[in-house]
Amino acid sequence: MGYYCLRCKRPVEIHNAGYQGVRCPYCGYRALKKDRPTVVVKKVKAV
Ligand SMILES: [Zn+2]
Repeated sequence: MGYYCLRCKRPVEIHNAGYQGVRCPYCGYRALKKDRPTVVVKKVKAV
């Protein structure tokens, strides 16, 4: 699943969601957002 921490902005993979909620394994922050951070996705043309 694609989560990312609102504090350290690291992508976090939640494997067992529901275990005391989701929590960042890096900084311990408990606010994760489900989508990716606003990153401009560059579309690469398939050659
Ligand atoms: Zn974090």
